Amino acid sequence: MITCWANQVKQAYIYVRGEFPRGARILEQAISEARARNLVGPDVLSTGYSCEIYVHRGAGAYICGEETGLIESLEGKRPYPRIKPPYFPAVLGLYQCPTIVNNVETLCHVKHIAAMGGEAFAHIGTINNTGTRLLCVSGHVQRPGYYEFESGKITLGRLLNEICGGPLPGRRFKAVIPGGSSSKVLRFGERFKVRLRDGTNVDWGVEDIPMDYDSLVACGTMGGSGGVIVMDDSVDVVAALANLNAFYAHESCGQCTPCREGSLWMKKITARMVSGGARSGDGALLKSVADQIAGRTICPMGEACAWPTQSFVQKFADEFSGYAEANKAMAKEALPLV
Ligand code: SF4
Repeated sequence: MITCWANQVKQAYIYVRGEFPRGARILEQAISEARARNLVGPDVLSTGYSCEIYVHRGAGAYICGEETGLIESLEGKRPYPRIKPPYFPAVLGLYQCPTIVNNVETLCHVKHIAAMGGEAFAHIGTINNTGTRLLCVSGHVQRPGYYEFESGKITLGRLLNEICGGPLPGRRFKAVIPGGSSSKVLRFGERFKVRLRDGTNVDWGVEDIPMDYDSLVACGTMGGSGGVIVMDDSVDVVAALANLNAFYAHESCGQCTPCREGSLWMKKITARMVSGGARSGDGALLKSVADQIAGRTICPMGEACAWPTQSFVQKFADEFSGYAEANKAMAKEALPLV
């Protein structure tokens, strides 16, 4: 409501994925409580300002995280992302009206800004990466969960080892996806030479990377949604990529041929690999398919589905070729049957 008032918005929609019914129910209850106190609806707190908030539950499509796909879904259509230009939501959004679309993390900052003032809020975090970040850590750590930090004031190593309690007993960290499944994977042990804003050159390991947008980009990945997915040494990375590829092939809306066909091909190749049919050129084949998707699609899901494959194949080339070797060995053992 603070955001709506600041923009003099008369109508707001909160779009919740279909898979989150409990969250949607809690939100609806909170909105009714706010309405009962005259904080939502007509003539808010007798100021003459009126605004309605509607909770809209989608049918469960990843692509509704893309703003124009979300708008199509809100209009009751299939969530096909729109082409920009001309469909920039601020110009042609919901029902072809000017529309502001923000994600939950952005709106969560409003409570800090209202409490401390915009200038003070702009001073927390780091230069160019101000404010806080919401990080949702899942996977192989002792204390997965939702955490909020000043942007860039915590390293990935401190987040995983101190806040999240470190790896599970007897295990070591192997890889981490720092900004949602579409961000490029980081392999523990790799190093990054980065030039900081003040001109200093640093040599970071994965655990040294500050959790802010610029630092993660400098290390070849991104902060993205803040969904940190941790994998320990029990993980078969080819199987992990097969899982991601199955997800993206399922979630492609199908409008663009590179995304629709490419995500399916990547799913089929990795599924074949983990089912005992790996071939020696599979890593190169996967990379070739991924390279032909990114940058050739209507919406950013082209990159979202290509980046996991590109980075997994590049950083775990040994494991991808190991699959083909293991298959060859198995095939040899099976030869007496012929
Ligand atoms: S990139 Fe994929 S999800 Fe996005 S519009 Fe094209 S087919 Fe749909």
